[in-house]
Amino acid sequence: MSGPLIWVIEDNDQNFELVDFLLGEAGYRVERARDGVDLAPLLAGEAPTLVLLDMNLPSGSGLELLARLRADERSRRVPVVALTAHAMRGDRERFLAAGCDGYISKPIESAHFLAAVAGFLRARSPGDGVER
Ligand code: MN
Repeated sequence: MSGPLIWVIEDNDQNFELVDFLLGEAGYRVERARDGVDLAPLLAGEAPTLVLLDMNLPSGSGLELLARLRADERSRRVPVVALTAHAMRGDRERFLAAGCDGYISKPIESAHFLAAVAGFLRARSPGDGVER
């Protein structure tokens, strides 16, 4: 297993299993956190190339976790893509303003999801990820 590592921060098991399946089939490696508590061990491990962040989490908002990701040396420069429900369309500008690099709509649509993930990985700045 040597594909790019993606952190998926998602509390909902069904959503996570779908995302995990799609990313796994596409050759990505996945590490999951359900919440900010789960995030701590990830921050002590291998730096990811992309973070997918559910903005609707039970304990602590997605924005709080975004702030933690931005404050940690390991994840500071890693693109963070918000996973947002269609009903939260009005919040997207707020997520982008807060520092998310983009968003992907829920419910997840397989082909669009993988194309979006690939696009965010390509969009990383040159040299990014070398010293993680
Ligand atoms: Mn959620």
